Amino acid sequence: MCDYDNAIFRLATAQETEPEDYIGEDGLLYCGKCRQPKEAYFPEGKTLFGRDRHPRACDCKRKILDEQQAAEDIRRHFDTVERLKRKGFTDPAMREWNFDNDNGKCPQMEFAREYVEQWGHMKAENHGLLLWGNVGTGKSFFAGCIANALMKLEVPVCMTNFALILNDLAASYKDRNEYISRLCSFHLLILDDFGMERGTEYGLEQVYNVIDSRYRSQKPLIVT
Ligand SMILES: [Zn+2]
Repeated sequence: MCDYDNAIFRLATAQETEPEDYIGEDGLLYCGKCRQPKEAYFPEGKTLFGRDRHPRACDCKRKILDEQQAAEDIRRHFDTVERLKRKGFTDPAMREWNFDNDNGKCPQMEFAREYVEQWGHMKAENHGLLLWGNVGTGKSFFAGCIANALMKLEVPVCMTNFALILNDLAASYKDRNEYISRLCSFHLLILDDFGMERGTEYGLEQVYNVIDSRYRSQKPLIVT
């Protein structure tokens, strides 16, 4: 047998036998704890490597496998959310802008929750938000709450501002298009403190480029 056959053989025959296990009336090995078979016959009398049966998970084994799977799913989810936060936030402080840290001062916060709850619809209909108001009224916090909540649902979000975008564009002269298409690849783009950048002609042109590309990508944009 070659290595591949050996591996298949081990898979097909590996059986963990416990002292309390027993052979049932059908000739199969049974688990002494849950009294479920640990083996099953191949259908229609078929055989593999001369064996007429293959291992099967009894209830105890199934429970262990399910628990391992659940733990693996949780770990994978945390990794995904962490990766989205690393990629999507331009400032680590943004990680703290979430509904759990809401001090209740912003009466419009329910709209942020609603936006997250209705995300499927918002995305499908390309609904964005325009948040305006005086300095210190919590617009960035509001948008950050949406970003964190959506990332928790494994939605790719980017939260940045034009001062950073203009810096990045200046630094990546050759790959501007690539940079802008990367911004457009996020399911939601949040531009914080829009209008703070004072308009040089170059700056305004880039602002136009980014907004226009985002518009053409038909994905939502939130601007504060
Ligand atoms: Zn069992």
